[in-house]
Amino acid sequence: MSRFPGVDFLDVDTLLTEEERMVRDTIRAFVDDKVKPIIEECHRDGRTPLELVPEMGALNLFGASISEYGLPGLGGVAYGLIMQELERGDSGLRSFVSVQSSLVMYPIYDFGSQEQKDKWIPRLATGEAIGCFGLTEPDFGSNPGGMRTTARKVGNEWVLNGSKQWITNGTLADVAVVWAKTEDGASGNGGKIRGFLVEKGTPGFTSSDQHGKFSLRASTTSELGFHDCRIPADAILPKTTGLKNALMCLNQARYGIAWGGIGSAMETYHTALHYAKERIQFNGQPIACHQLVQEKLAWMITEISKGQLLSIQIGRLKEAGRLKHFHISMGKRNNVWVARECAKLAREILGANGIVDDYPVIRHMLNIESVYTYEGTHDIHGLIIGEAVTGIPSFNAPERAEKPAKPTPAESAPVGAAR
Ligand SMILES: Cc1cc2nc3c(=O)[nH]c(=O)nc-3n(C[C@H](O)[C@H](O)[C@H](O)COP(=O)(O)OP(=O)(O)OC[C@H]3O[C@@H](n4cnc5c(N)ncnc54)[C@H](O)[C@@H]3O)c2cc1C
Repeated sequence: MSRFPGVDFLDVDTLLTEEERMVRDTIRAFVDDKVKPIIEECHRDGRTPLELVPEMGALNLFGASISEYGLPGLGGVAYGLIMQELERGDSGLRSFVSVQSSLVMYPIYDFGSQEQKDKWIPRLATGEAIGCFGLTEPDFGSNPGGMRTTARKVGNEWVLNGSKQWITNGTLADVAVVWAKTEDGASGNGGKIRGFLVEKGTPGFTSSDQHGKFSLRASTTSELGFHDCRIPADAILPKTTGLKNALMCLNQARYGIAWGGIGSAMETYHTALHYAKERIQFNGQPIACHQLVQEKLAWMITEISKGQLLSIQIGRLKEAGRLKHFHISMGKRNNVWVARECAKLAREILGANGIVDDYPVIRHMLNIESVYTYEGTHDIHGLIIGEAVTGIPSFNAPERAEKPAKPTPAESAPVGAAR
């Protein structure tokens, strides 16, 4: 398997420290040596490459920005470069690491008790334990605040009821971070949202896999059910006080996705460029000699370069403690869109070869549809940026007044009128 040479039109490497380049190159080599040889088969079979988990743990890919428990406490840019390289391999693999790090270890580390941290962080760091994050419900995706899952305090226990859908690693997880409405205080629709840790095997806790996915096939996506599921009183994440804590976790993950999008785009661009220079059509010439093909490659490299600069800038803002949620929205929204457009253009350049998994392009093209939708859809991030620049939130349409339903044109049309 040939080594990935990188995509660096603007010499952005000069904006990285030596340590950051070293972290990037280590993960780049891991992806070339361990991920690429097996990933198409995993995608075909619809299986998560669990055999890579111990090595990812040994490389400190889980919880890489934490500086306790022997973890490296990497800065924002180094962490982002890990996500970039992993997503160059596969968006499903990057999702695995994002969930484990940003959606499970981060909330336990930031909102958990000392006992919860001591119990879970070391095992999650090595990959000995796997976690998942249950926020989305069948009827509440972009608007998680409307969730119906409840947690009721009964004696010395919490009793959970409800369901979660589209949960990455749901059936694989040893521990689920679950968000539910409690009865204390009034927030959202009548209850405070708090985070809970639910362990695999707890009576009343069920999980099953989502089948029929054409995207992120090398990642497990599941449904979780809670049916009078009783967990101990100390299973609550004590420092969670509302939906904002869940959104803080999402911000961590979205930051990584901003970098990951560029990794996916780098892979499809690199494949298309190589193919265009090799593929001969008309007069013994490579298709790269045609202006229409060059224009596509020029678009891709320009957008990738802009996306790289955006990633580095949000990384530096993160390191300076000045990163805002709307900066992250811009990174996620732009860079995943760039990845989606690059996958489409690369597929065109590959012609018929663009639809087979001898090349990574069609897999990235399918994967990016999930990434475009999860962790806040492209449009929802547009609304977040819109609110930041106008000061006007536009998520909720005005309430619909209850009016008697108007007759449809068909019902009100006179008998015999032309339809
Ligand atoms: C593969 C995969 C893995 C996932 N993993 C997880 C996970 O681990 N944990 C978890 O909790 N969730 C997970 N999700 C769920 C994901 O976060 C949701 O799918 C996402 O938030 C969108 O919700 P929805 O699918 O219900 O779409 P909806 O919210 O129903 O949106 C449908 C469409 O309506 C648009 N829309 C909605 N509201 C507005 C508005 N106010 N203004 C304009 N447009 C609007 C959206 O942009 C979108 O185009 C995953 C999803 C996928 C596909």
